Amino acid sequence: MAVCARLCGVGPSRGCRRRQQRRGPAETAAADSEPDTDPEEERIEAPPAPRCSLLELPPELLVEIFASLPGTDLPSLAQVCTKFRRILHTDTIWRRRCREEYGVCENLRKLEITGVSCRDVYAKLLHRYRHILGLWQPDIGPYGGLLNVVVDGLFIIGWMYLPPHDPHVDDPMRFKPLFRIHLMERKSATVECMYGHKGPHNGHIQIVKKDEFSTKCNQTDHHRMSGGRQEEFRTWLREEWGRTLEDIFHEHMQELILMKFIYTSQYDNCLTYRRIYLPPSRPDDLIQPGLFKGTYGSHGLEVVMLSFHGRLARGTKITGDPNIPAGQQTVEIDLRHRIQLPDVENLRSFNELSRLVLEVREQVRLEQQEGQHEDKEPAAHPAQEAAAAQQPAQSGQGQPFVLPVGVSSRSEDYPRTCRMCFYGTGLIAGHGFTSPERTPGLFILFDEDRFGFIWLELKSFSLYSRVQAAFRNADAPSPQAFDDMLRNIQALTS
Ligand SMILES: [Zn+2]
Repeated sequence: MAVCARLCGVGPSRGCRRRQQRRGPAETAAADSEPDTDPEEERIEAPPAPRCSLLELPPELLVEIFASLPGTDLPSLAQVCTKFRRILHTDTIWRRRCREEYGVCENLRKLEITGVSCRDVYAKLLHRYRHILGLWQPDIGPYGGLLNVVVDGLFIIGWMYLPPHDPHVDDPMRFKPLFRIHLMERKSATVECMYGHKGPHNGHIQIVKKDEFSTKCNQTDHHRMSGGRQEEFRTWLREEWGRTLEDIFHEHMQELILMKFIYTSQYDNCLTYRRIYLPPSRPDDLIQPGLFKGTYGSHGLEVVMLSFHGRLARGTKITGDPNIPAGQQTVEIDLRHRIQLPDVENLRSFNELSRLVLEVREQVRLEQQEGQHEDKEPAAHPAQEAAAAQQPAQSGQGQPFVLPVGVSSRSEDYPRTCRMCFYGTGLIAGHGFTSPERTPGLFILFDEDRFGFIWLELKSFSLYSRVQAAFRNADAPSPQAFDDMLRNIQALTS
């Protein structure tokens, strides 16, 4: 057994110590970075190793050793002998595993009252459901969404995140528990649906495959209220949001959709989730990548993921609408083509802005025609270079910003200074994602947490504000895994 061999291999290490004693400190330091001498030679020099077995160690020491091993290795250790198996019943081992691997550090002692051990919590709750921890996008037609499954005390909870009320894009995300899993008794974990007003009730979770799981409510009557459907719906709106149906329609597009799906049979028949990751960040990124809330006209607020890909920045929809579904790339920013804004007076003219952006689009088109050499750095436009040199952003100052007259915005409450602007394209389409088309626009970086996009063709402005919520278990295992995830969620809705 590997553990035994490592622990009992005292012979060679004693040989090493003896050799080090003959050297000065400097030599010893140097020897540390040297590859070891032939272990065979060492073994010959050293006196025969005294017989030592892991089994002879005192149980307290074994508990200490076992508690430092990954929990997933412990079951095979239990099969070695009855002594090991007995020691592995020590709950402090499992308490430490729960804490170190899943961050559970509270209330574990309370468990003892209910007869549930830390070992049960580890094996039947945390380890059993480890694959659903993280960030997910529900499959709700084009609407998408955001779910974070986390370990919270002795529960695993699925929190659904919803954008704030339109148009308050700087407000924090709202969140509601959709389900929870816990160990109420020893034998297995209980899954409960948290939706509706009647409290937690019986639910079910199925891990479909890696990076996909589904939830099911077994008591959908808990979602219903007394009275007719229309009345239920109005009551729900009034109680939950303090609004009438009419008030709410444009303000709460996202949760209306979610509610509709949960309330109607879609949810009874399962809701499926696909794993998403937060974008990896690099030191030279324009700003920290991540999730943003953005204004999408009458569609309300939507969640967009900003990520950097060399010379491009991409905004991918995490929530979507019947025109542009979740998973699609709503904006693409060309970081090679900066646009120098005119002074505020001239910026008020939409025609002037339009001229500037279309000029760059023409330039981009020509470059694509000429070059097609992906690896060749295109020669910077001399005027652009000069403009870049004058950018106030270079000295860390802001530049005055105002929306051109005639460009519609959900709110007048947008930043009046910006750091820099780039050429970009925005995706527009008809209802049902028909005839999608990338149209020219202007990307405006306001500060570390806010950016904007002017959709030239729509004469409309979207403001994006960073989602400040801290999501757990949401990092991509590799940049490649992140890119694959982006491609997959895009392909699913195309
Ligand atoms: Zn339910």
